[in-house]
Amino acid sequence: MIKLLFSALIALVLTNSGIALEESVFELNRQEMVKTQLETRGITDAKVLKAMRKVKRHLFVPTHQFISAYNDSPLPIGYGQTISQPYIVAYMTQAARLFPDDRVLEIGTGSGYQAAVLAELVKEVYTIEILKPLADTARVRLEELGYRNIKVKHGDGYKGWKEYAPYDAIIVTAAPDEVPEELVRQLKVGGRMVVPIGSFFQELYLITKRESGIKQELLLPVVFVPMIHSSD
Ligand code: SAH
Repeated sequence: MIKLLFSALIALVLTNSGIALEESVFELNRQEMVKTQLETRGITDAKVLKAMRKVKRHLFVPTHQFISAYNDSPLPIGYGQTISQPYIVAYMTQAARLFPDDRVLEIGTGSGYQAAVLAELVKEVYTIEILKPLADTARVRLEELGYRNIKVKHGDGYKGWKEYAPYDAIIVTAAPDEVPEELVRQLKVGGRMVVPIGSFFQELYLITKRESGIKQELLLPVVFVPMIHSSD
């Protein structure tokens, strides 16, 4: 009996230190990612860098992708979708020029990673995902991680989320062919939208809403999955 208890105790200690070891490796990889992939490429906003240092990207990818979680690339998350490259997440977040009291809408929840990064920086995050299994998984994951300022909805991003509009910023993480009008409508005057536009070749734009219309600035060429139209 005592022997059994003893080995159970040893097993417990070993497992725990195994987990701790793994976590510290991820921690190192994450700090390295911020240094080599973000700081050297023009991500200068201290708050964005802090959020990217904090959010554990490995918890947003399938377990068999753990080892690649801090690579300089997008990764598959199932259903033909991907979690964006860390640099692109940081770049879009910085481009949106967020303020702590902002209410932000994200289109394309995917894994929930971009939503978590946003939630570190602003008061309220609303995110819409068209594929139900991804929306459900992200909702549970974000709840388990303790994010109380993110609401996930299963629905069509082209329709936006009227209930909480207008938004200070909108981040679109799937590519429509043109700027979705309803999303412009749900943006505050003075609000910013970061959106990849195009079907084959895509370009990332920063759109600022003004009283008189929109101002559209080209940021950089990108590759995103298409923003799909729902059947209804
Ligand atoms: N932001 C995500 C990655 C997005 S990948 C992350 O951090 O992991 C793009 C996502 O947009 C996919 O999950 C895709 O299913 C979703 N999507 C595509 N068209 C959409 C639409 N019309 N409305 C909402 N989500 C959409």
